[in-house]
Amino acid sequence: MPITGTTQLLGVIGDPIAHSLSPVMHNAALKELGVDYVYVAFPVAAEGLAAAIAGFAAIGVRGFSITIPHKQAILPLLATVTAEARAVGAVNTVWRTEQGWAGTNTDVAGFIAPLKTLKSWTGSTALVLGNGGAARAIVAGCAQLGFESVQVVGRRAEALEAFQQGWVGSPLQPPLTVHPWEVLPSLLPTADLIVNATPLGMHTAAGQTPLAAEYLALAQSQAVVYDLIYTPRPTRLLALADQQGLMTLDGLEMLVQQGAAALAIWLDGPVPVATMRQALVDWLER
Ligand code: NAP
Repeated sequence: MPITGTTQLLGVIGDPIAHSLSPVMHNAALKELGVDYVYVAFPVAAEGLAAAIAGFAAIGVRGFSITIPHKQAILPLLATVTAEARAVGAVNTVWRTEQGWAGTNTDVAGFIAPLKTLKSWTGSTALVLGNGGAARAIVAGCAQLGFESVQVVGRRAEALEAFQQGWVGSPLQPPLTVHPWEVLPSLLPTADLIVNATPLGMHTAAGQTPLAAEYLALAQSQAVVYDLIYTPRPTRLLALADQQGLMTLDGLEMLVQQGAAALAIWLDGPVPVATMRQALVDWLER
């Protein structure tokens, strides 16, 4: 579909944003559907958020994705926020309504999608490395999946405390405990799921791992190691886990599924998930 005077605008805001893979994934889906939309990345600094979304309303943007550093800051700027996004305390998808901008969080659905296909997680224990924005969606996802215990490990005591406090009053009531990094050796043997929610191992820090081989060796043989990072594939963590015979998941499916859930909201209909996944794989392997 050519871009013309009737083309509708979707996009993603963040800072930095040039690395975002969302335009690749969403434009592949829009092309396949043959709809008159285009999806663009907009660099928006923290101090420009309110002006940006007021401008988006003025020029008729239909909807947009949100990434660092706006996922929490956008909450007070929205007319309505879904119960799920309120429970997580972060929004990653916004769309236009007659009342103004509405927001939700599709990271939770994206995170749990590949886990749901593996087995029932009721009564299981999750170990989450890192306590940033993504960790909030993971804790919410684990609560939805029926985990009995979610242990979050972080490197800064005050940030861990704030993370725990952030759930006070949440209807989710996750079975959460927070721990300093040093206690990992005692937590690893009890974990059914180990999630990396730190940037350690990302393409900019490829070769790094949040868990060295001798730590991973403490994991149970049936533990699943889930790295939210999607490039490189595999990360050092997943390569080590694989060498040890552990089941692994990377962050690509989460990226695809959170994007598919967002696009389904904007277009109010089904979206070609396989096309979105393939577009990302092709882009990463180019
Ligand atoms: P974030 O809000 O910046 O949080 C990062 C967390 O990692 C913080 O707790 C941070 O601790 C910790 N950390 C950073 N460097 C560390 C180090 N050297 N040692 C130990 N801990 C360290 O980031 P985020 O949004 O949660 O994202 C985390 C990761 O998930 C990123 O790699 C991101 O790409 C990935 N992600 C993937 C998807 C997907 O769809 N697959 C979605 C969201 C995020 P401090 O606070 O002490 O710095």
